[in-house]
Amino acid sequence: MAALDGLPPLRDVIQRHGLDAKKSLGQNFLFDLNLTQKIARSAGSLEGVTVFEVGPGPGGLTRSILALGAKKVIAVERDARALPVLAEVSDFYPGKLEVIEGDALKTDFAALAAEKADGGPVKIIANLPYNIGTQLLINWLLPTDGTWPPFWESLTLMFQKEVGLRIVADQDDDHYGRLGVICGWRTDAHMMFDVPPQAFSPPPKVTSTVVHLTPRTNPLPCDVAKLERITHAAFGQRRKMLRQSLKPVGGETLLNKVGIDPQRRAETLSVEEFVTLANAL
Ligand code: SAM
Repeated sequence: MAALDGLPPLRDVIQRHGLDAKKSLGQNFLFDLNLTQKIARSAGSLEGVTVFEVGPGPGGLTRSILALGAKKVIAVERDARALPVLAEVSDFYPGKLEVIEGDALKTDFAALAAEKADGGPVKIIANLPYNIGTQLLINWLLPTDGTWPPFWESLTLMFQKEVGLRIVADQDDDHYGRLGVICGWRTDAHMMFDVPPQAFSPPPKVTSTVVHLTPRTNPLPCDVAKLERITHAAFGQRRKMLRQSLKPVGGETLLNKVGIDPQRRAETLSVEEFVTLANAL
C-alpha cells in the first residue's frame, strides 16, 4: 500500500533496517497508516500542539501525528535500533521530530514539557508497550509533586482492551476497581475504538483499544495516598461487604461517620463516595 505521506511503506522500512519485533520491549507494530491516522485523529486537533509519544518504534503513528499538523513530536524510545528509521522521518519533517533514546518510566515528562513546549499545549499519544502502559498512565495521573491540572491536555493511548475497560469503568461495573476510581476522579475517560490483534505485527493475543482521557480541571479535593489506601482495602476484598474489607482503615466506624451503608460492596461506591471516605480517614 502506498504511504499517505510520501515516505516508504513501513514493511519495507522495517525490512531494510532489520527491525524485527522484540517481545521483551512489548513491540507490536502498526503498519496500516489509515489506522495510525485514526488513532492520531482521536486526539482532536493537533495544530500548534507539541505531542509526546512513547515508543515510536518504526514510526507509523509518529508519521500520522506529523501528517496531521502537530507543531512538534517529542518521542521517547528505548530501542536504539529504531533511531535510524526515525531519522528518516525526521529528515522528511525537518525540525519537527525529536527522538530521545531512553526509558519512558524514568523520563520526567513534566520537565520535558516545560523545556520543549514553549508554554503551548501538550498532548500525549502512544501505542504503548503493554508491560509498562498502566504504570505510565498512573505516573501521568498522579504526579509525585501533586501538580494538577497536569502539563498535558489529553492522553490518547492504546491498551489491552481489558485494561481499557478498567480505565473507563464506573460504579456497578465488573471492571470497576482502583484504576477506574483514580481515572474517574482526575479525568474524563472514554474508549474510542477497538483494534483487532491482526492489525499488529506480530499480533498480540488479545484485542486492544484506544482510550482518550482529558483532565478534570477541578477534581474533588483529596489526598492521593488516602484515596489509594481506601481503594486498596476496598477492592482487595471486592466481594466482601465494606465493613469487613475496610476494617484495616476504620471499618464500620468510618463508614457510619460518612453515612455509607457498611453492608455495601466496593463496586457499588461512586468515585465521590470513595473521595468522601478518603477525606474522613
Ligand atoms: N508506535 C509504534 C507502532 O505503533 O507501531 C510501536 C509501538 S510498540 C507497541 C511499543 C514501543 O515502545 C516499541 O517501539 C518499544 O521499543 C518501545 N518501548 C518499550 N519499552 C519502552 C520504554 N520503557 N520506554 C520507551 N519506549 C519503550
